[in-house]
Amino acid sequence: MSDYDVIVIGAGLGGISAAALCAKNGFNTVVFEQGDAVGGCCSSFDLEGYRFDTGASIIMLTETIQAIFELMGRRMEDYIELVPCDPIYQVIGHDGSRFTMPMDIAEATSVIERVAPGDVEGWKEFTRIGLAMLDAIGDTMMTPMNTLREMARMQSEHREMVRYMEYFVRSHQSVTQKFFKHPVMESFVAYQSYYAGAPPYLGLGILGFVALMQHLGSYYPRGGMIALPASLQKVGEEFGLEVRKGTKVEKILVEGGRARGVRLEDGSVVSSKMVLSNTNAKVTYLKMVGPEHLKRWAIKAIGSYELSMPIPMIYVGIDTAPPLPAHHTISVGPLEQTNRNWYDYYKRGINPEPCGSLLSWPTESDPGLAPEGHHVLNFVWGGPDPYAPLGENWDRLKPAIKEGAIKELERIVMPDISDHIKFLEVSTPLDFERRLLSPQGAIYGLFLDITSMSLFRPNPRSRVVKDLYLSGASTCMGGGVPTTLASGVIASNYILADHG
Ligand SMILES: Cc1cc2nc3c(=O)[nH]c(=O)nc-3n(C[C@H](O)[C@H](O)[C@H](O)COP(=O)(O)OP(=O)(O)OC[C@H]3O[C@@H](n4cnc5c(N)ncnc54)[C@H](O)[C@@H]3O)c2cc1C
Repeated sequence: MSDYDVIVIGAGLGGISAAALCAKNGFNTVVFEQGDAVGGCCSSFDLEGYRFDTGASIIMLTETIQAIFELMGRRMEDYIELVPCDPIYQVIGHDGSRFTMPMDIAEATSVIERVAPGDVEGWKEFTRIGLAMLDAIGDTMMTPMNTLREMARMQSEHREMVRYMEYFVRSHQSVTQKFFKHPVMESFVAYQSYYAGAPPYLGLGILGFVALMQHLGSYYPRGGMIALPASLQKVGEEFGLEVRKGTKVEKILVEGGRARGVRLEDGSVVSSKMVLSNTNAKVTYLKMVGPEHLKRWAIKAIGSYELSMPIPMIYVGIDTAPPLPAHHTISVGPLEQTNRNWYDYYKRGINPEPCGSLLSWPTESDPGLAPEGHHVLNFVWGGPDPYAPLGENWDRLKPAIKEGAIKELERIVMPDISDHIKFLEVSTPLDFERRLLSPQGAIYGLFLDITSMSLFRPNPRSRVVKDLYLSGASTCMGGGVPTTLASGVIASNYILADHG
């Protein structure tokens, strides 16, 4: 007799969604989460009266969340309130220009007519092709594409997708440049390549359309980003799911080539019929399973994956309302610099001069996240930054980052912001690793480009250890709220197919 049917390691979005679905499907399921909260990168924490978001700051493509609740026979609206972020963002160009993008596509067209008249036709073509392509892709995010057979099945069920193949094989930059010529529009759409952890020159072309997806719905969950994983935990618990926080898994126990449980940090052993790991796939195989249970080719294959990039985050609490026009402010540098920061700096272990930032103002959507009259700003400044900067140490760099961040906030938010800052903390790649056990602070698991997506990524149904499953940013379509939620659905479907 095993203690559980399914042990899930990690309560990130890919772990908690899979766990809730396994519980709904009748499996006796437990989640071991080493941290003190669920959600991983999509979580929140409270400090000095403010609630900050760990990483993710916005939710798009909410159909995935809807679908998960439907799979559990529940209504999403009964568990989570999603506040629309409209306008979506303010853009600050490298030429000093500022403009604000409304959610409505027709209104956004009027903004582009004003700020980049030469790009109006390009934007209309971008939206026309993008909307048709998203329609053709439909619900494929939750469709498994991890083997050649699954890939072929998906293509035969979505034949019209073939028409848009060029956007799957092009780079993010080439998609951007196909539609946009104005330097700020071009940089702004290209910068979003880093949302998936790659420079525009290498990023996936399909993700060039994130700039359009935002107009189909951008939301912030009331209560902070943690409200999303917490809602999945709640519905999972209604089906008997057990979530044990502050419980670190050290080892996945393998017997006769099958995952049969885990050993926890305190040395205790918990047995199960299956194990689902939501941690970085390199850690899952090379540390938790261990090379002793892997064939040589498997060690080589998993070892060949590159980790995703790290980035510093800055959390700020202020005692006044910032004069910002939107929930997000995106400041962009020239496109070429955005690429150079990857090749000439990050790849060589040097911290680049920040040439872009993403500022989120969550109290605009939910004032309850700060004391009355106070506000929260979560700030991704610059990046990508190396995990081990040459001749430097992240702990030592912190004061300089704080100083630089304040200067940047004075520029993009208000000149006297330092008079209002009541709290400011930096989370470096090293802190990220300490907090989430994310190796080298990697923010999206493994690096994602055309050569490392879907069937080229670690398979959610392990090919090397039976009864071992994987979910999260290291699998399927990589990092992101909808993609990692979808990875949980895919992994739980494999479990149901194999053991239902
Ligand atoms: C700074 C930042 C900004 C982002 N912004 C957005 C955004 O605005 N919109 C968007 O869609 N996406 C965004 N993302 C991406 C998105 O948040 C992530 O891709 C997604 O949340 C990752 O989910 P995951 O399932 O891979 O799990 P993770 O978030 O990686 O969670 C893994 C969990 O496993 C736990 N764990 C690790 N090791 C162990 C162990 N040994 N034992 C037990 N537990 C363990 C960790 O504590 C963690 O809780 C952002 C990410 C970051 C980092």
